[in-house]
Amino acid sequence: MRHELECSSCNSIYPPGGYLHGCPACFESGNLGSLQVILDYDELNFDLLPFGTETPLNSMWRYQELLPLVSKKPITLGEGGTPILRANYLSSNLDLNIFYKNETVNPTWSFKDRLYSLMISNVAEFGYNKIVNSSTGNAGASAAAYASRAGISDILILSPHECELPLRNQILSYGAQLAILDFESRSSLLNLLVDQGWYPVINGTHYSSEGYKTIAFELVEQLEEVPEAIVFPAGIGDGLSGIWNGFKVLHQLDIISKLPRMIGVQSEERQPLVRAISSNSKEAIPDMGPMPITISTSGTMTGTYAIDAVRESKGCAYAISYDEIKISLKEMGRDGLFVEPATALTAAGVKQAHKEGEFDNGDTVICIATGTGIKWPHGISPLFDPVPTIDPTLDSLERATSFTFEFQK
Ligand SMILES: [Zn+2]
Repeated sequence: MRHELECSSCNSIYPPGGYLHGCPACFESGNLGSLQVILDYDELNFDLLPFGTETPLNSMWRYQELLPLVSKKPITLGEGGTPILRANYLSSNLDLNIFYKNETVNPTWSFKDRLYSLMISNVAEFGYNKIVNSSTGNAGASAAAYASRAGISDILILSPHECELPLRNQILSYGAQLAILDFESRSSLLNLLVDQGWYPVINGTHYSSEGYKTIAFELVEQLEEVPEAIVFPAGIGDGLSGIWNGFKVLHQLDIISKLPRMIGVQSEERQPLVRAISSNSKEAIPDMGPMPITISTSGTMTGTYAIDAVRESKGCAYAISYDEIKISLKEMGRDGLFVEPATALTAAGVKQAHKEGEFDNGDTVICIATGTGIKWPHGISPLFDPVPTIDPTLDSLERATSFTFEFQK
């Protein structure tokens, strides 16, 4: 779909492009202006929209007509088209119709693939062959996979010490180079690289939330209705705002007649979104608290666009404790999902919102299961008791487990 880019500070309009430093006019006057994608709906070909058709839902590119793709064909690994699963275990204790949108089955096992399939497609088309990403892990792995697939020669991922071994192996396997440094020092190095012409494929830039709209599109098709609420584990919040914008697009096109509420969840340790919502602040309030177990939502800032999405949708935001994350990760396991700690925030968020009277009985609520637990062995192992080694006897087994056995006298 045709689009332009508009500066959110000075309102200058630009044709599609890379724009390493955001808005060129703002950058020239020493300021930072972030660019936003403005889609040209006058150009929309309704015949190419899939809603209400029988075509298989097997990739996010089913919705290509609604995405700001510059090239003719996207760089794809088969991202999107993920299943929804009824949360039987969680729903049994709450009078709600809860579903998981299982993004852990994306090609690199996280929802980030929707971002990078679109962003890397455009960046490659613009001709960049040096890309850099600064990420706690999921984004770096996804950026590396798509950039390699696009034939981009130089791929550099900057990650904090908390980036675990499976993620490091994954990033390296895709042919990227990886460097580990302190969490908060990554952005200054990233800026130096951008000055040298490296393209920053990171959150908070144009094209970073567009792909997430397809989660909303898929949900509307899969549920054949609009859910009452979407619960999302928010870091900087591109995903949360992208999904909200997806629902708004469908509303604008008269494909749906109501909108869901957006519920953002973060850890108690770092909760910039929750603080902004609870203090009625227009701007995000940085939260420099200790590193939480939910590494994927450990950003100390949230984008104003995520705050706007929660407010516009009459949603809410919750901070979740370590103990509650631990319980919720195991509850999601009872429904057959092995998720990362940040994703467990969603089940905990549903319980919290229910307790605070945010839902009516029977409401349909969607937890976005953003990423798999496989990548985080060091973070997840402490949530469980040590696994015992036993002798091959029933007696030894009984002492090591909660089961009881009948012994021959
Ligand atoms: Zn500007």
